Amino acid sequence: MTRKEYADFLLPNIIHDVEYYEKKYPERDLKEDAIVVRVAPSPTGFVHFGTLFQGQLNHNLAKNSEGVFYLRIEDTDQKREVENGIAEIIEAFRFYNISYQEGPISKEEEKGNYGPYIQSKRSDIYGAYVKYMVEQDLAYPSFATEQELENLRSQQENSKSRIGYYGRYATDRNLSMEEVIKKVKNKEEYVFRLKSPGNFDNKIVFHDLVKGKVEMPENDIDHVILKRDGLPTYHFAHVIDDHLMHTTHITRGDEWLSSLPLHLQMFEMLGFKTPKYAHISPIMKEENGKRRKISKRKDPEANVFEFKRRGIPIEVIKQYLMTVVNSNFEEWFEQNENSDIDQFKVTFDKMNVSGALFDMEKIINLSKNFISHLTKEELYERVLTWALEYDEAFAILLKNYKEDSLAMLNIERESEKPRKDYSAYRDIFDNIWYIYDEKFHISKEQYEFAKIQDPSEIASILKLYLEEYFDESDSEEIWFDKMKQLCDRLGYASNMKEYKKNPESFKGNVADVSTVIRVAITSKKQTPNLYDILKILGKERIKERFQIWI
Ligand code: GLU
Repeated sequence: MTRKEYADFLLPNIIHDVEYYEKKYPERDLKEDAIVVRVAPSPTGFVHFGTLFQGQLNHNLAKNSEGVFYLRIEDTDQKREVENGIAEIIEAFRFYNISYQEGPISKEEEKGNYGPYIQSKRSDIYGAYVKYMVEQDLAYPSFATEQELENLRSQQENSKSRIGYYGRYATDRNLSMEEVIKKVKNKEEYVFRLKSPGNFDNKIVFHDLVKGKVEMPENDIDHVILKRDGLPTYHFAHVIDDHLMHTTHITRGDEWLSSLPLHLQMFEMLGFKTPKYAHISPIMKEENGKRRKISKRKDPEANVFEFKRRGIPIEVIKQYLMTVVNSNFEEWFEQNENSDIDQFKVTFDKMNVSGALFDMEKIINLSKNFISHLTKEELYERVLTWALEYDEAFAILLKNYKEDSLAMLNIERESEKPRKDYSAYRDIFDNIWYIYDEKFHISKEQYEFAKIQDPSEIASILKLYLEEYFDESDSEEIWFDKMKQLCDRLGYASNMKEYKKNPESFKGNVADVSTVIRVAITSKKQTPNLYDILKILGKERIKERFQIWI
């Protein structure tokens, strides 16, 4: 039997050969230094902040070199696959406006000429390359059972040997074709393993774009390349896909750095051009003085949709992502505040080698700043869009009280130094709810009166204010003058200096009196500018709100 017949016997359903695929996916027609990159998440039902980070990074690299950025779904670990996993990844990129030129656009559809971009749909391709490798004696079927591998492991642990299926331990390497055929006919299950030509005593030296010079022993382990279910392992899929899709730069988490010798070896064995690698440190978090990776379990912010739920503007997240990508971004952004952040040129040498720190505080500050610079109309539209998805009752109020909501959002907005009080759309309702009449049906205990607590004193302040001092058409200056007059009349100090000199001779001061009015119409001691809120509510509604106290 020739090796070709042998390979046909082992992989009878594989129709096309590797030449077919090499022709089908020709070199990309791009300019010389164009960068082809991808993001390759697994559909685990959890879109990690790191995926977005890599998306933003790669999108930028491709854009600035007139290259290609594509999305590939790595779903070869079918045990980990989750129903909506792919849809969520696609939605995350759509929502954060990180566009890819090629890749799945839904579970069924995709764009681009180098697909399929979902690995589970590529099994014929992987099969063709395994077949080729069997023919060339670069791979072999291995029948070792879980139990046998477990035993091998304990044996190696006991003898303090290196763990793995290699060298003299890789016994299936030596099976003859006849022995293999017999086992297959006997229905024994098998995987395909790489026939590694490596020698552990040799060193390979490699230049990583982020980590710099890396020195590691050559790979000599006969890693599994194709599993029993006919799907490839990550290692094999990486090499085949990034070769056929002509990826020029692999940017990936540095947990893969230790597998680099295996990957380089496979590229060489298959005669493929090796891509450049940039191994990126995970985003870290500081906790009790210690650094750890941000984690899916412990950190809600590790999930990219958390920011969407909170209503943090996507512009803020993108700006933050870039500050994490490159240490010189912030400086650039200050100088180019009105440019599209995609125009910033990412470079690998400005990437954090040891892991950037995730800084929620910073996101919040960026967000406060960003939101404070929106016009009231922009903010209103954004909050409404957010509320339609996450807080329907608020959305209805926003629509029914459009003018009041706009005016409320506008308080202290159009000034030199706009008020920075909202860090997320989610915060807003809690700050303005009291302007909505149906929300204002609250009991007396819920009012946060301060210094002046006596109900009859409160009643007389409110009554007099309404009857003699409030006029909707007053300017802010006149309004404040009248507040002072009201104080003088009731025995409160209208002048803070005088009050401080002689507090005993007054019942209180103008701040105490305005607090009574503020609390009576909002129930809260602290609100944005009182004058503006009075204007928004107008005389009739103020009267109604005072009534409960008068
Ligand atoms: N699916 C791999 C992961 O999520 C991708 C690694 C890579 O980018 O090659 O870690």
